[in-house]
This record gives sequence, structure tokens and C-alpha cells, in this order.
Amino acid sequence: MNTKEVHKIVIVGGGTAGWMTAAMLSKHFRKTAISITLIESSAIGTVGVGEATIPTLRRFYAELGLDDMDVMRRTQATCKLGIKFKDWYQPGSDFIHPFGLYGQKANGIDFIHYWMKLRSTGDTSKLADYSLGVNLAQQSKFIEPSPRPPSELSVFDWALHFDASQFALLMREYAEANGVRRVDAKIERIQANADVGVESLFLDNGEVVSADLYIDCSGFRGLLIQEALETGYEDWSEWLMCDRAVAVQSTREGPAPSYTVSQAHKAGWQWKIPLQHRQGNGHVYCSRYVSEDEAITTLREHTSGEWLHEPRKFGFTAGRRKKAWNKNVIAVGLSSGFLEPLESTSIALIETAIEKIRRAFRGPFFTKQHVDEFNDLTAQEYERVRDFIILHYKLNQRDDSAFWRECRDMVLPDKLAEKVAAFRERGELIRYPIEIFGPPSWIAIYDGFNYLPEKYDQRIDRMSPEYLQKALEDMRNAVASAVNSAPSHEEFIRQHCAAP
Ligand code: FAD
Repeated sequence: MNTKEVHKIVIVGGGTAGWMTAAMLSKHFRKTAISITLIESSAIGTVGVGEATIPTLRRFYAELGLDDMDVMRRTQATCKLGIKFKDWYQPGSDFIHPFGLYGQKANGIDFIHYWMKLRSTGDTSKLADYSLGVNLAQQSKFIEPSPRPPSELSVFDWALHFDASQFALLMREYAEANGVRRVDAKIERIQANADVGVESLFLDNGEVVSADLYIDCSGFRGLLIQEALETGYEDWSEWLMCDRAVAVQSTREGPAPSYTVSQAHKAGWQWKIPLQHRQGNGHVYCSRYVSEDEAITTLREHTSGEWLHEPRKFGFTAGRRKKAWNKNVIAVGLSSGFLEPLESTSIALIETAIEKIRRAFRGPFFTKQHVDEFNDLTAQEYERVRDFIILHYKLNQRDDSAFWRECRDMVLPDKLAEKVAAFRERGELIRYPIEIFGPPSWIAIYDGFNYLPEKYDQRIDRMSPEYLQKALEDMRNAVASAVNSAPSHEEFIRQHCAAP
């Protein structure tokens, strides 16, 4: 491929992916002559779920000049300090994966080694006692993190539980105000060519639309990237066996927690996402082990509020498109792949895709090198997220169903196997490039599943046991005191960002 100039971009799809892309690219190309059109079909609608996020989302909208509290008010959002995993390790167990650190690193040695050494002397404190994020969440409290934390002990982050359709609307307002043209019509036919890729889109209003670059945000079906260009899909269901979900909104009972709940069931898991005005619920399951009726019954049994509509049903295959950028089409969102929403990563992968598009288009053109680099990075990003999600299944110690035993017995992808072995054997936290989840997140999952290193770093033996004990006690006290003075999550929302 020679250099291909871009004067016109068409985004296909107006879900979360389409409007986030339109908003950010309208900013990126503001001072150029590049025009952006977005085509969506209100007759088809959007996937309509996707309410839990990770902190990167806040950085995304901050770059558009939007303020946390304004976004929360507009999207009826609550604050998310992490995810509480119930019954995953064994029935009756629970732990929180926070967006934050545990304790304080010293002398280049990770905190977990100090904690393990202390435990070896008979101390019973939990790793979670050293995390401000976990302790705020456990008590459903919330404070905004200090922009200049005095020590690692005060480092935590937060994200939003929000109404995704309201967020898409916010993105749409931004994009349209910055010159994006919106067309509400259904694409009925696509003309494609083996060399260039997509040539024209034929709409049901009679319009024929052509562009130099197409961004496919058409959802699971991948209208351009798959149906027109037959790019292919890498299937990861040998590791991630859940292939269906049922989702329903309900009334919310009691105060909103400052975390998402993920509760394991017989052959899958259920999410509970609190918003200001309601709760989102869903059951992700493996259809080889559970029927749709059974999945709905389980969801009903574990939802306390009143259901606001009949449950919506989804089918999917975990995996990714073989090339996220093929010829003149870039897939963003569900059209580029799907990983179950266990760690709320879909919207984050939309953000990273948009970031890569911006990096590729420093000028109004692209080359084969841009395409290859984009595809390489996307493959790595998806694989690293996939591996993190697999870890949750692999480490389970449930014995109540064949599903969980099958998960435990699975053979891990090579890179993940290497990483898990390094942690088990020597407490080493390998970090690969392009990882959305860093070492503290891996520690949270290992610890939550009681999967700890065989030995701690022996250099700590040089430290006096009394000194170590006192230092860690001080850390626990500092965390407890910060939590004591924090307001409840409900109070925080009432004061700062309650929807009118
Ligand atoms: P869609 O929302 O499906 O949008 C597709 C768009 O394409 C629509 O506007 C549609 O009208 C348009 N379109 C399609 N065909 C045509 C046509 N022929 N002509 C014109 N327009 C067309 N993500 C998270 O980050 N956190 C979560 O908690 C989370 N939970 C999820 C739970 C479930 C059960 C599922 C299935 C997904 C979840 N996700 C979650 C993923 C998240 O919902 C998606 O990543 C996000 O909504 C983006 O979707 P999209 O915009 O790619 O696709």
C-alpha cells in the first residue's frame, strides 16, 4: 500500500464506540479540512449495556474538557472504587479488586513481600488492610484521591458506573458541536473492492456515501470489517467459555455501594452495577452448562429490586477480529472483538483504539506501516486483557460444578502461564508492554484467590521483626484513619453530583 490521503472519514454506528470516536476525532481533526460523517440507524438501536468503566474513561472525557461531576450528573453515575468478587474463589468468599495500591514499596521490594514476611511471624492482617481503595469501598465511602498523594498509601483511583446511553448522547453533543454530520439511516448495501476495501455505502434513504477511511462501530456483526471485508475472527472460547448473557435493569434498594459486584454462579457470574436512579444487572454464562431459562431464574433469585423490563439476551464468542485495521476500515468497539465484561474493559479498549487512531493520523494520510503497527498493538492489548480475565477463572477452587472444574483444568496461554509461574515461584510481577492492568491489579486477583508466592524476598530477613511490625501497623492505622474521616458514597453524590 502506498501513502493513502484522507479527506473524508465515515463512522458507521452511533453506540458508545461510534460517538466516543466521533467526539475525539472531531477534536483531533479540528484544524484540518478532514470531514467526519457518522451514520447510525435509530431503527436498529445500540447494544444498550456497558455501564461499568475503569479510570481511563475519566482521562478520556477530561481531554475533551469535560468535568467529572458534570459527567456524573448528566449520566446519573455513581463512583466505582473497584469490583467486589463474591464466591469466585470458593462459595462464601469475597474480595475487592481496587483501582489502587497496597501498602508501600521499600528498598525496591514490592510491599507484598513485607506483608508475607510479617504473616510468617503469625500476624493475621490481610493484604486488603493496606489498601485505601479497598477500605473505602468496603464501607461504601468515597473521597476523591489527592492529586499529590503524600505516600503510596494514599494512591487510589476511581471510575464511573453510568448510563451508557446518556454518555453516548454527551459524546454526540460534543461531536456535532465540532462539525460531525449525523445521518440517521440504515446501510442496506456495501460496495467493496479487493484492493482498496470499502468504496461506497448505500443507505435506505437513497443516499450513497463514500469516504477515504471508514471506522466500523457497527457492533457485534462488524458490518464493514467482517460482512464486507471478511477479515476473520480469532476465537478464544477454549479459555473463556461463557458465551451468553441476560441483562435487566431494576430498581435499586438501599444505598449505592462504591463498587461493582461480580458474583459467581453455577456456570458463570452476575454483575450488579448501581446507578443513581436504578441498578444494572446481568448474568454471563456458559450455554453448555446452563439453559437460558435457568440463567434468567438465577438472575431473578439474586436481584433484590423490581425488574423494570423483560431481560435482554445476548450471544457472543470471546475473541478478536484478526485485523482491527483492514485496508481502509478500522474496527472500534464490539466490531473489533469481545471479552466478557468481568473487568469492564470494552469501553477502555474503545479508548485505546481511538488513541491509536490519533497517533496514526498525525498527518492526513496513512501507510502500511500505520496499519501494521495498529494491528500489532491491538492484538497485544486484547491478549493482555484476555489473560487477566482468564486468571479469574483459572484460580478458582469451587467444586460445585463441572464448569468451574473445567476452568481450573484449562491449559493457559503461554505468556500467562509464564507470568503466573514467576509470581508463584518467586513473587515476581512480570509486566508486559501494552497492559491495561498493572501489577497491583494482578496482586489483587492472586490474593483474592489465595494464590500467593511460595517464598518472600529473603532480603527482608535483614530487617528487625519489631521494626517491620511497627511499620505495617502504622500503615494500617493511616488507612483506617483516612477511611474514618471520609463521607459515605451516598453523601458524596448528594453533595457533588446528584442528577437534577
Ligand atoms: P453498538 O452499541 O451495538 O452500536 C452499533 C451501532 O451500529 C448502532 O448505532 C447501530 O444503529 C449501528 N448499526 C448497525 N448496523 C447498522 C446498519 N446496517 N446501518 C446503520 N447503522 C447500523 N463494556 C464496558 O466497558 N463495561 C461493561 O460493564 C459492559 N457490559 C457489557 C455487558 C454485555 C452483556 C455486553 C454484550 C457488553 C458489555 N459491554 C461493557 C460492552 C459495551 O456494551 C460495548 O463495548 C459498547 O456499548 C460499545 O458498543 P458498540 O458501540 O461497539 O456497538
